[in-house]
Amino acid sequence: MAALIGIDFSLDGKQCGHLAIPHSTNVSAYGKIIVPVVYIRNGEGPRALLSAGVHGDEFEGQIALRKLCLDLARDDISGSLLILPMVNAPAVISSSRVSPIDQLNLNRVFPGDPLGSPTVAIASAIENQLLEHCSFAYDIHSGGSSLLYETVALTTSTGSEPDDKKRLDLLHALGLEAGMLLPAESNMGLESSLDGAMLRKNVIGVSAEFGGGGALLSETILQACELSIRRFLAHVGLTPESQLPPADRRCHIYDVDEPDAFVFSTCTGLFKADVAVGAMIGPGDLIGHIFDFYDLTAPPKPVINKLPGKVLALRTRPCIEVGDCLAQVGKLCGAHEEVAHAS
Ligand SMILES: [Zn+2]
Repeated sequence: MAALIGIDFSLDGKQCGHLAIPHSTNVSAYGKIIVPVVYIRNGEGPRALLSAGVHGDEFEGQIALRKLCLDLARDDISGSLLILPMVNAPAVISSSRVSPIDQLNLNRVFPGDPLGSPTVAIASAIENQLLEHCSFAYDIHSGGSSLLYETVALTTSTGSEPDDKKRLDLLHALGLEAGMLLPAESNMGLESSLDGAMLRKNVIGVSAEFGGGGALLSETILQACELSIRRFLAHVGLTPESQLPPADRRCHIYDVDEPDAFVFSTCTGLFKADVAVGAMIGPGDLIGHIFDFYDLTAPPKPVINKLPGKVLALRTRPCIEVGDCLAQVGKLCGAHEEVAHAS
């Protein structure tokens, strides 16, 4: 079971501690995996968690939260804040989506098991030892090594007010142009994700995607990530809203729960996209082409889109297998767009 070392939730100030997960190996009999945690508390108030590095090959959130750990002082906030820039530490150290130790994707093993393998034990610690102390959470992702994402936020809808409205308000408060609303009954793996853990712990939560491609591609994307964190902190009441530039609340909500929202390859070869991330496309539009590896006389196979919507993500690694995700297309969700414009 994980131990939380060096953090006392009752103390004011800035503490740097860690989760220690036992990991005994041939070369380290009593070894531990260390997941660094910064905790800042200034009296009673909102309690929030910021996380990145759930996937180790997603860097924007990791950098943004490391900067925040350095910059934020006790007197900057009212309430308490947990910051975890490298949640799946072994995956981060190896720049890998899944853990190199147990080959597991942390965002598919919640609620975890305190006695399970390292990734499973980390999930359990986040859900039961950290989220337990929070009312709000923001988990930051990117497309990782295989995808490039539009800057887009995501939250869940359960059909029950007032928490659905609180989540949607939080989504809009991040100030991003695009948002995704995932129904709790979706079969997209919500239950086993950190977003699902937030729901189970009654934490008003949101996550977001910034760039990707397995690299830090753009200062603009990193700045958008950092600004969204500042907006999150202000919206939940940890910092004063007056210090922020006014938000453009015109967040368009896209439905990604449609069967055709994810476009998968049906053959092997080299994929070349013919659209850009963020483009608006319609049914029948070309997403890209796949060139056969061996048949140099075969024309490239077109990849056709089926939904009217926005290209939210595109594959960045041209070499593909059958079943690889080539693109994600979000269908503009009319009813929620009205909500977005009204807020
Ligand atoms: Zn991710």
